[in-house]
Amino acid sequence: MGQPKILLLGPPGAGKGTQSSNLVEAFGVEHVTTGDALRSNKEMDISDLGLEYDTPGEYMDQGELVPDEVVNAIVEKALTSADGFVLDGYPRNLEQAEQLESMTDLDGIVSLSVSEDELVDRLTGRRVCDECGENYHVEFDQPENEGVCDECGGELIQREDDEEDAVRNRLDVFAENTEPVIEYYSDRADFVDIDGEQSLDTVWEELQAAVEDTV
Ligand code: ADP
Ligand code: AMP
Repeated sequence: MGQPKILLLGPPGAGKGTQSSNLVEAFGVEHVTTGDALRSNKEMDISDLGLEYDTPGEYMDQGELVPDEVVNAIVEKALTSADGFVLDGYPRNLEQAEQLESMTDLDGIVSLSVSEDELVDRLTGRRVCDECGENYHVEFDQPENEGVCDECGGELIQREDDEEDAVRNRLDVFAENTEPVIEYYSDRADFVDIDGEQSLDTVWEELQAAVEDTV
């Protein structure tokens, strides 16, 4: 059997990106994340699709979902070239979940659960490396040198959509569109729910054990 194909679910700020880095290191899988892919293509011209806005960035800065046709194409391309992967940030609605079924078979599905108050603290305090995308937190996960990435020396910045208004909107969008996706997967025998409010290390131990069970 090849490398595992893992779907990591959870609200914005649950720790998906942070724990995906651990999975990449431990299992050699690829990190397929629609958030990072879209951030690299914020200015892409999508005007020919005749949608509300002409670039992904206009949806993202407000915390709205980028339209399915844009996101589905990104994921399909990334999954075709990956052996094992951890998929993070997709699917975010039931239509995307249906698309995913036609693209690949998953070996494991893990959901990280975190309460809304904790999510707001995590997202507004998150800092990300401008160069490599590594996540930090001003209180919970500090770099060795303030403002500097431990991994690559890049500058740590705050994402525009991590300001409080956009955070609240993203959590509403999650409740309306993405909670039903978690509900949908929760009936599957290989679904594992992890308490994402535990320490970074404890979440990692439980996630690692869940993924080991799939291989
Ligand atoms: P997601 O990718 O799910 O949006 P991140 O991995 O970026 O979430 O985590 C959001 C923020 O919360 C980051 O600043 C990260 O450092 C912090 N964080 C992640 N997991 C934990 C944890 N278990 N305890 C405390 N802070 C955490
Ligand atoms: P993230 O980095 O996962 O928090 O995603 C940041 C932003 O990118 C989201 O608020 C959306 O605007 C957009 N985005 C990421 N993934 C998706 C997706 N699967 N569907 C639609 N929009 C997405």
